[in-house]
Amino acid sequence: MNSSEAPLMLSVSGARGIVGKTMTPEVAAAYGGAFGSFLRATTGKDRPRVVVGLDGRISGAPLAAAAIGGLTATGCDVIDIGIAMTPSVGVMIGHHRADGGLTITASHNPIEWNGIKCLDGDGLAPPPAIAKEIVDRFKARRIDWCGPLATGRVERDGSAARVHVDRVLANVDVALIRSKRFKVVLDSVNGSGCLGGRMLLAELGCDVEHVFGELTGIFGHVPEPLAENLTGLADAVRSTPGAACGFAQDPDADRLAIVDERGTFIGEECTLVLAAQRMLQRTGGGTLAANLSTSRMIDDVAARYAGSRVVRTAVGEANVVAGLRPADGILGGEGNGGVIFPPVCWVRDSLSAMALVLELLAHEGKPLSQLVAALPRYAMVKRKLELAAVGGMAAVAPALASVKARFANERISDVDGVRVDFADGWVHLRASNTEPIIRIIAEAPTAARANELCDECAKSVPG
Ligand code: MG
Repeated sequence: MNSSEAPLMLSVSGARGIVGKTMTPEVAAAYGGAFGSFLRATTGKDRPRVVVGLDGRISGAPLAAAAIGGLTATGCDVIDIGIAMTPSVGVMIGHHRADGGLTITASHNPIEWNGIKCLDGDGLAPPPAIAKEIVDRFKARRIDWCGPLATGRVERDGSAARVHVDRVLANVDVALIRSKRFKVVLDSVNGSGCLGGRMLLAELGCDVEHVFGELTGIFGHVPEPLAENLTGLADAVRSTPGAACGFAQDPDADRLAIVDERGTFIGEECTLVLAAQRMLQRTGGGTLAANLSTSRMIDDVAARYAGSRVVRTAVGEANVVAGLRPADGILGGEGNGGVIFPPVCWVRDSLSAMALVLELLAHEGKPLSQLVAALPRYAMVKRKLELAAVGGMAAVAPALASVKARFANERISDVDGVRVDFADGWVHLRASNTEPIIRIIAEAPTAARANELCDECAKSVPG
């Protein structure tokens, strides 16, 4: 889809659209109003308190102002924390005992995009049913604008990065990490992670080389933290003598990708595994949670610690938290570099991820490349199965059913699409919400085997 003709996308993760076309202050005001009305209706409070932040995109300021207008005009009091990482919004909801949060971000999407995400009073991405209720209110414009004397107030709080960093520091071994005086290259893509990322690493005694560390809101490279977009970071690590690693945050700083001391991108799947490894070491074992599309490396690492297990969940931050929280899990996340560290917040958090990886490096006393080399190696293959020619959206359910039938003798999960686990690999098929396609992800010891698993699934689809 050409981005200029993309519609406003409404999903469980909020609203996302093209700035000036489908994502406008008008949309943000209505979304803020819908969320404010929802909070008043569901909390039973006259004046719910809502934390509002934005990820630093230059298009964010007018959208945040409009969303704040929508919230205060539906009777909510707003704590405006300004440019802030998405996880900081989660932290500040707890800090202010607020009833919810709203952040203006399009996460890793390019600069043309912006969006709106809500968090609940526990600082969690709302579960699908609640998220849908908020979206439905927005779509139907079921907004209860309040009278003049009920208008909410706005208070500003510029301490989000500080409060967030302090929360991370309270939950890692600061003395151990400081003793190593790591040299670290940080790429914040000129987004919201600039301030908190630098502050955290300085507090951890690191000598920081900061690339794209200016909060201009104009991204220094394509913002998704993937290998092809992080060549600048890799070069910076190579040209920084003694660098222990390079860290890359996405614009709203919930995801973290890592480059080793030789300047090699280690793959975004490794972030969660390394953080999990440290937490398993620290605790001697525990429960982890990861979505069904996340690499099997985490299961292998957990298997080294007696009594440990990995709860597998549907894709989406809210689903991972729904698996992690009731199980008293020590860490959760997603293979895209999203680490959820419960003592800090229930949002994927690049700061927690950086601190845990540095703690692992400090504890092990080995270069990062060696720690990565000791992880089990898998190849992951991602494909799309186009169903437009064989019945479109209507073909999705029968296609998934036939894959399930084809592999009836294997271990199958249908928590989210279909996942089939084999002795030497797995394959996960999920339908897109918006297009007649099925995404297939397979993982196996070799790319050839992972491709074979994809082929097997594709073959069993009628048409
Ligand atoms: Mg993000």
